[in-house]
Amino acid sequence: MLRTFMTFIWAAGLSAALASVPMFEASAQDSDTVTAQKLRDAALTDRFGYRFVETLTTTIGQRLAGTEAMTRASLLAESTLLAAGFDNVHRESFPITAWMRGREEAEVTAPSSQRLVVATLGGSVATPPGGVETEIVVFARYSQLLAAAPGSLDGKIAVVTEAMPRVMDGSSYGAAISIRRSGPSEAAKRGAIAYLHRSLGTDDHRLAHVGATNYLEGVKRIPAAALSVPDAQQLARMAALGKVRIRLVLTPTSDEHAQSWTVSGEVRGSERPDEIVLIGAHLDSWDLGTGAIDDGAGVAIVLGAANLIAQLKPHAKRTLRVVLFGAEEMNYSGPAYAKMHADDIPHIVLAGEADFGARRVYTFLAPAGAMNTPFLQTLADTLNPLGIFLTRQPATNSGDDIAPLHDAGVPVIALRQNGIDYFDIHHTADDTFDKIDPQELAQATAAWVAAVYLALQSELDFRKAAKDFKN
Ligand SMILES: [Zn+2]
Repeated sequence: MLRTFMTFIWAAGLSAALASVPMFEASAQDSDTVTAQKLRDAALTDRFGYRFVETLTTTIGQRLAGTEAMTRASLLAESTLLAAGFDNVHRESFPITAWMRGREEAEVTAPSSQRLVVATLGGSVATPPGGVETEIVVFARYSQLLAAAPGSLDGKIAVVTEAMPRVMDGSSYGAAISIRRSGPSEAAKRGAIAYLHRSLGTDDHRLAHVGATNYLEGVKRIPAAALSVPDAQQLARMAALGKVRIRLVLTPTSDEHAQSWTVSGEVRGSERPDEIVLIGAHLDSWDLGTGAIDDGAGVAIVLGAANLIAQLKPHAKRTLRVVLFGAEEMNYSGPAYAKMHADDIPHIVLAGEADFGARRVYTFLAPAGAMNTPFLQTLADTLNPLGIFLTRQPATNSGDDIAPLHDAGVPVIALRQNGIDYFDIHHTADDTFDKIDPQELAQATAAWVAAVYLALQSELDFRKAAKDFKN
């Protein structure tokens, strides 16, 4: 039902877009508007990004940072940028701790024997080789774990079964993420010897959602895994009836001396080449699926948009830089990029990242201070036929990899995609190419190409506008 409705508004948007191209001789700003409309409409039928994510997921598959597959992905991205005629194409390596999944087995051993579906959390330590077998303590809410007294979980496995609600903008993920990131250390502080939590997912299928965890300094590191949603519900019901014991075997390994790669290319500006508009997505993925919606789709969107802009003659006024980050999932590439490019940061006038799946864009948030400007008015008018409205709040984040740039003073723009079912498959074995609808991906690319082009042409000093807005 939802899909039918969205296809309808997308198709209506396309015909409205074609009807809105003016037929008269244009001034400079009008000509930017016309070019933005043409780029937008071209993106609706262009398949450059879609073909790239098809090749990426088919010939390489998973791209966990630190694996040989991620290195091959960086080479594929580099050769694609070179073949498309980008300037200044290169790969940059940076150090990471690579983490590799091992065996992962979980079963209820009492009161009755039952297998459980789990996924080891990224960064988790291993259990002893023979595993651990002990009683569980179930918390319906994460806050109840935080309220538990020190020592109350001595020798036990803590299990948090809190659910994550389904919402269109994905904000419930941010609200729940401490359950995965901080849960293991919080459980360890109270004496637990292992930690399980209900996957941060909105599905009801029997696949666990992986994701990174972060141990607190000075707290014992305990093994941790996500349970599939039905398995977490099962444990909650069992625990309500009496004592439950679990056996858990996790054998991940890590390598502190690994590296990953970020790949970038530019379309050099024709008038103000020292002013850079940076758009990014992340090339790495989790290892269970093939990283199609997270974040092959984002790579497809920014590559598709950048490729259309690269073909403009003359080039747009400012320089476009496309950056494909190489270790977002374990949060290495954003900080590494900001550190390696500290000298560049003052030249980056605006940044954006596509990292929220393959569905259509439904709203956008403007850079701070840009609200009542010709740039924003033209952008709103250009995106309206795609069924996209302006959220009247400044963008404060646009993606994890560019957050360190934003912290260092770079304004950001956010194009929000429909995420109503994003967390059904996010970080699961179901994240595969077949989940990408080429028409929705094209709509998102159309939104990005128009936004990026208008930012490249704009006279607006985004950095100054953001600074003035703050003061
Ligand atoms: Zn992602």
